[in-house]
Amino acid sequence: MTDTSLNSIAVLTSGGDSPGMNCAIRSVVRTALGAGLTVYGIRRGYSGLLDGSFELMNASSVGNILQHGGTVLQTSRCPEFLDESIRREAFHILKRKKIDGLVVIGGNGSYNGAHCLNQEHGIPVACVPGTIDNDVQGTEYTIGFDTAVQTAVEAVDKIRDTASSHARIFIVEVMGRKSSSIALQVGICTGAENIVLPDLGEPDFSQISKDIKRGIKRGKSSSIIICAEGEKPGLSYRIQERLKDDHGLDAHVCILGHIQRGGNPTPQDRSIASQMGNVAVNALLEGRNAIATAFQNGKVIEVPLSESLGKDNKYDPKMIDLAKVLSI
Ligand code: ADP
Repeated sequence: MTDTSLNSIAVLTSGGDSPGMNCAIRSVVRTALGAGLTVYGIRRGYSGLLDGSFELMNASSVGNILQHGGTVLQTSRCPEFLDESIRREAFHILKRKKIDGLVVIGGNGSYNGAHCLNQEHGIPVACVPGTIDNDVQGTEYTIGFDTAVQTAVEAVDKIRDTASSHARIFIVEVMGRKSSSIALQVGICTGAENIVLPDLGEPDFSQISKDIKRGIKRGKSSSIIICAEGEKPGLSYRIQERLKDDHGLDAHVCILGHIQRGGNPTPQDRSIASQMGNVAVNALLEGRNAIATAFQNGKVIEVPLSESLGKDNKYDPKMIDLAKVLSI
């Protein structure tokens, strides 16, 4: 049933950008326009909300964007939003603009900002998980993960070519801070000799060395260690140092960095983002006021926002075993 009290909504992207955010924006805008709503795009996340950077959107505003990475609305970190009095200002800005609902596309932090706005001021919010890290609670998938993995896999395949030619060891650092999903998936897809997942604690340098030396002994022409970046910078250089100093192994470091955030979204990211944007707007139209969209058991659904606020470092531990079995 459509909630007739909803006339106008706004959409913003917040936190780290991810490929596929544009598909979600497009879906939100066109679903809302189709339902007869007025739609505003807010620039630069919560920062743009606070400084009134609103743009009236029409169908053409989101034309020709779904194939591009990044976010046409741009994004930001907005530390001020942690302050309750600042969020009250944001509420008054939304009220003055006569905005009845907000769609927030972002990661865990952005979800928390939306939750605060809803709890403190009753603004209806619908969140869409946009982050390459795949670490938002309540959903098996976040928009951008597949594209980031694809970018990293293509890069590691290239590194493997040169590593094989020179019989070299490479430590390739992928994104994800404490989230290990990208590292594990990339490690499996590239046949990495070892995968370092910082959420499992301090790396086992002796085991890494054993894995590499075993491979060299049986005639492997190259070795690749995939390492998630970890919370503090420099993990891959620490591994390099320990392998050299304690185990006599020379390894090269390659940090893939922000290339993993960019690039054209894969069909999977385009499709899930398009479905999620649509589900988010329909939830607001039907009067539900604090939801998150989620991918569960192959379907896009909505779940209560309160159940989606934590970080969830999800991967199947069996994948770690698989990587070990296959990398001998
Ligand atoms: P992501 O959404 O990708 O996880 P951040 O963690 O940087 O990115 O969060 C994005 C923004 O969300 C922050 O800059 C801040 O404006 C807002 N935010 C994060 N955590 C909270 C919180 N606990 N309460 C209110 N707002 C928050």
